[in-house]
Amino acid sequence: MILVSSCLAGMEVRYNGTHSLNQTIRELIEQNKAVSVCPELLGGFFTPREPAEIIGGDGDDVLDGKAKVVEKSGRDVTDMYIKGAYAALEKAQDIHATTVVLKEYSPSCGSAMIYNGRFENEKMTGNGVTTALLTRHGIRVISEEQLAELVVS
Ligand code: SF4
Repeated sequence: MILVSSCLAGMEVRYNGTHSLNQTIRELIEQNKAVSVCPELLGGFFTPREPAEIIGGDGDDVLDGKAKVVEKSGRDVTDMYIKGAYAALEKAQDIHATTVVLKEYSPSCGSAMIYNGRFENEKMTGNGVTTALLTRHGIRVISEEQLAELVVS
């Protein structure tokens, strides 16, 4: 079974109330080969919500207490991001997910690139908080940009 970002499945759960539909992901859901999760909603956020970025590092640094997640207006929401990451981990473990496909660039779900923490619409190398936690628990995380690597049984 595969776990995927809810926004990739077409759900309007992004901070601004939109989705990031990926047709392949939607088909996996329809074929009961994947289930979706939105770590930010599990962390206690609603849609729409303020955009947030990681300041001082990436998801691994957040887990290590060296960086924080902050909304554009300045509110520290690190604890909510960590809570959402643990809830997503629990879901991944519940369904014995072999692979997880998460939305690139998100402070929760990014796996190769995230925004740089200055709200400049600039990206940098790094992962999101949920991706960092899942990876630390031996779960393979890829993004929608790596779907060609996905082998679904
Ligand atoms: Fe939710 Fe992740 Fe999509 Fe953000 S990128 S809306 S946290 S599923």
